[in-house]
Amino acid sequence: GFIGSHLVDHLIKDGQEVICLDNLYSGDKKNINNFINNPNFTFLKHDIKEPFYLDTNIDRIWHLACPASPDIYQSDPIKTTKTCFIGTLNMLGLAKKSNARILFTSTSEVYGNAEVNPQNEEYKGCVNPIGIRSCYDEGKRVAESLCFDYQRMHNTDIKVARIFNTYGPKMMINDGRVVSNFIVQSLQNKNITIYGDGMQTRSFCYVKDTIKGLIALMNSNEKSPINIGSEKELKVKELALLIKEKINPEIKIIHKSLPQDDPSQRRPCIKKAKEKLNWYPLIDINDGLDKTISYFREML
Ligand code: UDP
Repeated sequence: GFIGSHLVDHLIKDGQEVICLDNLYSGDKKNINNFINNPNFTFLKHDIKEPFYLDTNIDRIWHLACPASPDIYQSDPIKTTKTCFIGTLNMLGLAKKSNARILFTSTSEVYGNAEVNPQNEEYKGCVNPIGIRSCYDEGKRVAESLCFDYQRMHNTDIKVARIFNTYGPKMMINDGRVVSNFIVQSLQNKNITIYGDGMQTRSFCYVKDTIKGLIALMNSNEKSPINIGSEKELKVKELALLIKEKINPEIKIIHKSLPQDDPSQRRPCIKKAKEKLNWYPLIDINDGLDKTISYFREML
């Protein structure tokens, strides 16, 4: 997947041995082309909804499995819930058996359509349990429950990162997320599609910053969930204008209907990450978008 492949890049450069599992449902094998012949890297096409056993000693599990784009996770919502629930159960079972530390990548979506802004880790969330986003939101919530029950019952060494919107190279061209859509549309001289009035906000973190946050959390003693994301909040409309200006100011913006339960405001409080992990994002949205645009330009 997108974030996982950046993580592998870091771990391999750091001299670690990596076994990478992916069912390639929303990932792409070309993301790992650089490591495929590296003796420290093994790729196994595996779906974590199925149990996974290993004879090799493992000491760390990074669990990033699940499509994160609404278009993709909603295309087979039952599979999404199963990946979050059964997949996480399988990975926690593996962590318990191997006595390995496990980092689970949860999401800002556990906060749902938040009634507070910014969202800190104490906020319990406002999720519609029967809506079209619930396969992902509730899936990630039950996965968090499982992590903390494994911690309480089995003393499993868990880390939970709540990742906010992340963007950067290696996102799929047809991922369906706002950053990749707007860039690809602009590069292809198509209309930029804003869902709703574009006044909804998101906070976009460049993937390299996200990776540093995940690594800092994995290496920490922290036992509770931590938000990983950018504090810079942008309206979707502002993002559209920014990308349009960078690529082609002539591009037209059109509006489509807002999907059901689309959160209206999202910005992490990252006080805890700053205090406990000494982590905060460094890459400015302008630089991050430039790097991402270059990537998509090349891909297209
Ligand atoms: N969005 C949009 N046009 C697009 C894709 C997304 O206006 O082509 C909006 C979407 O409705 C949401 C925001 O951009 O309000 C972020 O969407 P994305 O799918 O990237 O992430 P998520 O909703 O999961 O935060």
